[in-house]
Amino acid sequence: MTLFDLTQGEKAIIRKVKGKGSFRKRIIEMGFIAGKEVEVIKKAPLKDPVEYKIMDYFVSLRNKEAQLIEVYQESEENTENVEKEFNGIIDLKTLKLSKKKDEKKTINVAFVGNPNSGKTTIFNCMSGMTERVGNYSGVTVDAKLAQFKHKGYKINVIDLPGTYSITAYTPEELFVRKFIIDQQPDIVINVLDSGNLERNLYLTTQLIDMDIKVIAALNMHDELEKKGAVLKEQELAEMLGIPLIPTVGNKEKGIDELLDKVIDVFEDRDEIVRHIHINYGKDLAQPIDELEALIEADKNAEKLNVSPRFLAIKILEKDKDALKRVMSLKNAQKILALKDKHIHEIEQVHQDCETMITDAKYAFIDGALHQVYQPGTIEKKQKSWMIDQLLTHKILGIPIFLFFMWLTFWATFTLGEYPMNWIEMGIDALGGFVSQYMLDGIFKDLIINGIIGGVGGVLVFIPNIVILYFFVSLMEDTGYMARAVFIMDRLMHKIGLHGKSFIPLLMGFGCNVPAITATRTIESRRDRIITMLITPFMSCSARLPVYILFILAFFENHQTTILFSLYVLGILLAILTSLLLTNTAFKKADLPFVMELPPYRMPTLRSLIKHMWVSAEQYLKKIGGIILIASVIIWVLSYFPRDKEIINTYDTKIAVVSNSSIAEKEKTEKITLLEIEKQGELQTQSYIGRIGQFVQPIFSPMQFDWKLSVGILTGVAAKEVVVSSLGVLYKTVVDEEDPKLLAQKLKTQKHTSGPSIGKPIITPITAFSYMVFVLIYFPCVAVVAAIRKESNKWKYAMFSVFYTTALAWVLSFLTYQLGSWLF
Ligand code: GDP
Ligand code: MG
Repeated sequence: MTLFDLTQGEKAIIRKVKGKGSFRKRIIEMGFIAGKEVEVIKKAPLKDPVEYKIMDYFVSLRNKEAQLIEVYQESEENTENVEKEFNGIIDLKTLKLSKKKDEKKTINVAFVGNPNSGKTTIFNCMSGMTERVGNYSGVTVDAKLAQFKHKGYKINVIDLPGTYSITAYTPEELFVRKFIIDQQPDIVINVLDSGNLERNLYLTTQLIDMDIKVIAALNMHDELEKKGAVLKEQELAEMLGIPLIPTVGNKEKGIDELLDKVIDVFEDRDEIVRHIHINYGKDLAQPIDELEALIEADKNAEKLNVSPRFLAIKILEKDKDALKRVMSLKNAQKILALKDKHIHEIEQVHQDCETMITDAKYAFIDGALHQVYQPGTIEKKQKSWMIDQLLTHKILGIPIFLFFMWLTFWATFTLGEYPMNWIEMGIDALGGFVSQYMLDGIFKDLIINGIIGGVGGVLVFIPNIVILYFFVSLMEDTGYMARAVFIMDRLMHKIGLHGKSFIPLLMGFGCNVPAITATRTIESRRDRIITMLITPFMSCSARLPVYILFILAFFENHQTTILFSLYVLGILLAILTSLLLTNTAFKKADLPFVMELPPYRMPTLRSLIKHMWVSAEQYLKKIGGIILIASVIIWVLSYFPRDKEIINTYDTKIAVVSNSSIAEKEKTEKITLLEIEKQGELQTQSYIGRIGQFVQPIFSPMQFDWKLSVGILTGVAAKEVVVSSLGVLYKTVVDEEDPKLLAQKLKTQKHTSGPSIGKPIITPITAFSYMVFVLIYFPCVAVVAAIRKESNKWKYAMFSVFYTTALAWVLSFLTYQLGSWLF
């Protein structure tokens, strides 16, 4: 029987985990070991994945993975219950001393701990920094550094990614291990979730093997107290040789004590910090000791900077990174031969060696906790459980999720419109102010249309970004995000992605820029990049004015269907692109989907506000620059060269009108029209106009004339610009609320020469191909900048530019051909 065969509410005991490689390792480290009880909590509304309870916490597994876990039920076979022995520790009775103390009194500290244990929260308390925290695994992808002073010491802290273990399977784990070994921090602070010591201490046992100076923060101590559990901290600390400091990260409790302890331990004033070994039991103890001795005796061992015991254990676990390190030893061959011999012997009697060591570690933790820990009697999970019943309900779960998404969406774009309008008004006012007080000329135009216009284009997105981030943070901090992923995973898995990709994609319908920023929550880099690359296919709201214009002009019937078909086309392209990418460049299988479902937590207002602030700041700093440069370039291209003759002709005409004696209202109307005509002529003569005419042949298979081509070019800045530049080119005032006038103009354009003289230039088929092109091509400069920033690679930004543009051409061409053939 496998875990998959159990039904909701059933419990079973694990016999063994099949499968291999990273999945198996990961799942065992998360507590799925022989003899442990698992309970099926519930299936996701789409039946996959399923939530399980193990070691008092909740994880979700995909069905495919649950099938690899063999279980039995207690009634079935009692005999199998093997008693795990607890052998305690071997106390070497020597204090761990700091290696070298420099006069400057600088202490390098690294944070290590499970995801969600509160590392970032404590890191922020200490450093006064505003790193993102969230009740959600994988928030910290990169390491963050901070520096501050405490009692005359300079302290450098680094917040490492959360890991359940330090094997070398996931990039995060490798990163943490490399950091500890290569950077040799003076002290490692192991942040533990006191509410779930059994699993959290697993990582601690590995730190003990590494023989480094560790202090443990017993974080979430409030939850331990609330449960009524009793922990004999002193005894546990003595057993582990690690000082334990109770902390409550989000209330900033215990942080000073923790820092004081850092200094004590650094100065070798703490008696607790001793060299100890975990006793792995008779079958493992001797092989480990022999290998350790052999490695330690090696001449080159010193250079490795790794504890010989850690290496001995790791090579028994067949750890690749450790094997590589051992290879550089003088006696490498001898060591490896001894290792092979031991593995062979052990595996003849027991199961494989890795599992054996993991089991032994858990047996040690079990035994230790048995002596010092008394579980609480107060069941506090009730509330969390009830909320969860509703939020992941098999029928209501999806509607509730969609409602939250709608709410986020609505708030981001509808509520966001108010501050957006204020900002726009402010920018206009500033432009007006400048135009009043500056002399006409290039500079004025550059400042008003290039810089103010460009920066304004960046600023107007701020409300959207801030509001969106408020909701994303709310979802993360409360723990709902993990449930959203749980609900959507099956659907997203079908297109090769992960449940987490759903949120950014949905956001993309509003604006692709914040959507791409939201991909930050996806911890797998592969999924993050793919999500970023497919987000531009989600038709953002800036493209809507273009559709509305052309639909009004050319389609009297089926307007909704046509609009809808464009959105669907975008979604289809996103799916196909994802499938294409996951089957080619990003073929490497994604990590097993073993996700912890953390308890629901009340977010603090402070952390929410911090998130909003940080996101706005980052957006301004990183994206602003690129957009500014791009807007100035586009401005230059559309401003130069200035044709004096055109300007003079129109200025004369305008002067004539303004001096005439017609009614004021009529006068302004006439002048506005003349201004627009002038702009149109100038635009035609400008570089961008010339480029438009130059590239027009590329678009001739779809019958786009040069004006439509210029529209496409200017749309690179932002897609709504397509409409306003068509307005300029067709010499009409564009009222965004009522584009009928321009629509009329577009419809009545006729060829004035050539074979098709008298026939309309733009047919419905051309119009539809144009909309298809606008939907797909070049995701405006802001999006390109966002992709570049979030992926940290120009490569992906450029891929997005070329791929979408090429695809746009091909599909627009096919649409045209197909349309002409059909109608
Ligand atoms: P990380 O993944 O280890 O960096 O964890 P975070 O710092 O992001 O914290 C995870 C969640 O736990 C956040 O929602 C924090 O507000 C919350 N949190 C952190 N410390 C404590 C604590 O001591 N008690 C309680 N109840 N919650 C905490
Ligand atoms: Mg973190």
